[in-house]
Formats: sequence, C-alpha cells, structure tokens
Amino acid sequence: MIPFKFKYYKPDTLQEAFELYSHIASQGKTPMYYGGGTEIITMSRANNIRMDAVIDLKGIPECCGIEMVGGRLIIGSAVTLSRISESGLFPLLGQTAARIADHTVQCRLTIGGNICGTIIYKETVLPLMVCESRVVIYGKGGKREVQINQVFDNKLRLQPGEILTGIMTDSCYCSLPYVHVKKTKSDKIAYPLLTVVAVKKDNNIKAAFSGLTDHPFRSREIEDCINDENLSDDDKVNRIIGFQQISVLDDTEGSSGYRRFVLKNTLKNTLRMLEKVK
Ligand SMILES: Cc1cc2nc3c(=O)[nH]c(=O)nc-3n(C[C@H](O)[C@H](O)[C@H](O)COP(=O)(O)OP(=O)(O)OC[C@H]3O[C@@H](n4cnc5c(N)ncnc54)[C@H](O)[C@@H]3O)c2cc1C
Repeated sequence: MIPFKFKYYKPDTLQEAFELYSHIASQGKTPMYYGGGTEIITMSRANNIRMDAVIDLKGIPECCGIEMVGGRLIIGSAVTLSRISESGLFPLLGQTAARIADHTVQCRLTIGGNICGTIIYKETVLPLMVCESRVVIYGKGGKREVQINQVFDNKLRLQPGEILTGIMTDSCYCSLPYVHVKKTKSDKIAYPLLTVVAVKKDNNIKAAFSGLTDHPFRSREIEDCINDENLSDDDKVNRIIGFQQISVLDDTEGSSGYRRFVLKNTLKNTLRMLEKVK
C-alpha cells in the first residue's frame, strides 16, 4: 500500500502535462511524471519518495509511438521495454531492453523511466550513446532536440518540469554490427555487474558501459585505445584496466577488483567478437 494520498492526472498533450507540472509545483507541491510507475510505486511504498501528484505520460501520442519516419527511428518515452524488443526495429536496443528485469516487468517499464529514474544502471542509455541518438525534450520553450551524449552527464540533465518526450536514432545506426554483453553476479535476471555495448561503424568501434561505475558512460579515452591499430588486444585491455579516472564501484554486487577482472575478460571477448564483423 502507498502510505499517502496523491492525485493522478493523464493529460493528452505535452503542453498540458508541462503546464500541469508547473502549476502544481508553483503551489509548493511535488508533482512527478509517470511512465510505467514501477519505480515510483516501489519507492512510495518504501516511503523513499513522497509526491502530491503523478502526471501519467501514456495519454500523450508523442510519448507512445515507435516507428521509422524519414530514415529515423522515433521511440516515445512511454514505450515499454517489451515493445521495443518485440518491434525488432533496433536490435541492439531490443537486446539490451530484453535483459532488464523479467518479461512481466518489461511489459511495464518504459524507456523514459529507465533513462530518467534513480536506479543507477540505466542500461538502455548505452545503445543510444554509441548510436549517437538524439533525445527530444519538452519544456518552457517548447520542444528541443539534443544529442544524448551532450545532455547525458552521469544522468539526463533535465530542467525542472522538462519531459523526455522521445528518442530519435538514424536508421543506419539501428542495423550496425554490435556486441551486447551483460554480466551479473549469479542469476541471469539481476542488476549488472557489468554491461558492455559496442558497435562498429566504418571500422571504428564505439563502446559504452554500465555497472562499472555509479552511472552509465561512454569514454573517448577508452574508444581511442580500442581503435589504436598499433596496440594488440592485450595491450588495449591492460591499458583500459589501468585507467585511474574510472572510479569502479565497490559494493555488495561485486568488489572493484572483481569488476575490473570481469571488465578485462569481457573486453577481450568483445574485441574478439567485433574483429569478426565488417
Ligand atoms: C525488478 C526490476 C529490475 C530492474 N533491473 C534493472 C536492470 O537490470 N538494469 C537497469 O538498467 N534497470 C533496471 N531496473 C530499473 C528500471 O529499468 C527502472 O526503474 C524503470 O525503467 C523505471 O521505469 P518506469 O517506466 O516504471 O518509471 P517510473 O516509475 O514511471 O518513473 C521513474 C522516474 O523517471 C521519471 N520519468 C519517467 N518518465 C519520464 C519522462 N518521460 N520524462 C521525465 N521524467 C520521467 C519519473 O518521474 C520518475 O522519477 C529494474 C527495475 C525493476 C522493477
């Protein structure tokens, strides 16, 4: 049971949602956008958050579609992880989504909630980072479109009340050869000890990571090292493992030493797998 009362709204437009949020906030109350609600409900039950109103985004057409339009795949922020996987339109994102929680939960979790929520892993961000996807954000001045790598810095940098409306990815990126590896402590369905996502475009590898640090990231230094033709695979991996700027997590899921060990083996395998694809 949720131990407090709150109001539920389901607006039809982005403007209505944003105005509602601003109006509620201007009264000193706490509104929250609502995607699948899994995180909001769990945290409310545990008394970790308290809101006065939720604004469900699932009535807004821009947030609910998944389609190819003019050479770009457009995914609404309220689209569930299961719908993304089942669409088959972006295999790397589909595979990543299919390894988050179990299928029943995937039918509720939205990509917007995964990106904007508080759980640190945000694995769906990884394919978007390596595929240079753009996010559409609705706020005070209307809609704006930004490359995800410019606006995702440890987390998605939204202004108060801004809505992540959707994600756009050029179709040429959706079909690139890729590697997705998720390593967990024991069970198949669990938070990642390490998730590595990599694509190969024009013989250049782009890679992003979750579980290694307290936020998902893509690193220019790591990619430069991976793409350095003068280094052997072992040299590349050893250099990357030695990067001191990566502040590796050390928690009950795995010590930092163990995570580095997993990274080392996973990177070796990833490079080997990518060598085989053109
Ligand atoms: C059993 C379970 C296992 C999980 N395992 C993993 C895992 O292995 N890897 C992983 O990465 N994640 C994992 N998660 C986290 C999960 O992906 C997120 O908590 C989830 O996606 C939240 O989605 P939701 O649609 O239910 O979000 P909600 O609960 O609706 O919202 C979460 C937060 O995001 C905000 N929000 C939602 N949509 C928007 C939007 N469009 N614009 C602005 N703000 C928005 C809400 O206001 C709220 O603060 C797991 C979650 C569960 C329940």
